[in-house]
Amino acid sequence: MDILTTVHDLRDRLRPHRQEGRSIGLVPTMGYLHEGHLSLMRRGRSENDVLVATIFVNPTQFGPNEDLDKYPRDPEGDAEKCRSAGVDILFVPEPGEVYGPQFQTYVTVERVSAPLCGASRPGHFRGVATVVLKLFNMVQPTDAYFGGKDYQQVQVIKTMARDLNLDVRIVECDTIREDDGLAMSSRNAYLSPDRRRQAVCLYEALMEAKGFFKNGANNAEHYLAAMRTRVNAEPDTEVDYISIVHPDTLEDLAEVGDKALAILAVRIGSTRLIDNMLLHE
Ligand code: AMP
Repeated sequence: MDILTTVHDLRDRLRPHRQEGRSIGLVPTMGYLHEGHLSLMRRGRSENDVLVATIFVNPTQFGPNEDLDKYPRDPEGDAEKCRSAGVDILFVPEPGEVYGPQFQTYVTVERVSAPLCGASRPGHFRGVATVVLKLFNMVQPTDAYFGGKDYQQVQVIKTMARDLNLDVRIVECDTIREDDGLAMSSRNAYLSPDRRRQAVCLYEALMEAKGFFKNGANNAEHYLAAMRTRVNAEPDTEVDYISIVHPDTLEDLAEVGDKALAILAVRIGSTRLIDNMLLHE
């Protein structure tokens, strides 16, 4: 596995592969890798000739009072995990390599970025779309892999790819969970043992919604009330949002029909966690 830090070296390394017509898979991450990330890499490995992973804690997707400075990092452990997942090229640029001093061009995906995390983290999806488009331009992948845990992020990227005619297949992968159901996340490292036990309330709230759906309930307010009750049963939790939305548009549903997504963001102490579940699957 090659570890590269400059766009110049990355392009030099990929050029012969592209000229030979080989497929190139891309897995963008912010590092502190866990089984969720590795599942994307394994899928990318099995579907492509060349596999590129990136680790870049992207400053433009963090708000001024968010956790950019304390985001967990483990460069050596991450490199080892990438190697064992079969990554060919690991790209780990410094912020200055990605954003030059004159940087001033951003991508805004409008409607699908607006609700949910977009409402509570202004500018977040602008930063995500911008860095993902830049990584696409640097790597020119045939396939790019994203986790369903960040459901809205996948919708933003799919929308960008469609609207800007990007020649890349966006592959959405299942959420990987801990044994108790908590979605794996680099931010789970912030949780103390007590908070870690409480954090299962996100998954359990989603399972309540799933139960309502299986029973044919159609008033979304009933789903939301049950989910809020489950989360609020834990001390020191604060709901950022809990919503039942249409999976394609992310617009709130009043009546739950044949397709619905339950999605939530909750602070457990000071750690903000997100999760979601398609109720019809
Ligand atoms: P991050 O490092 O948090 O930016 O995540 C990088 C990629 O891994 C994104 O596409 C995430 O959606 C994906 N990912 C993160 N956690 C999980 C998980 N538990 N299951 C599946 N994919 C995940």
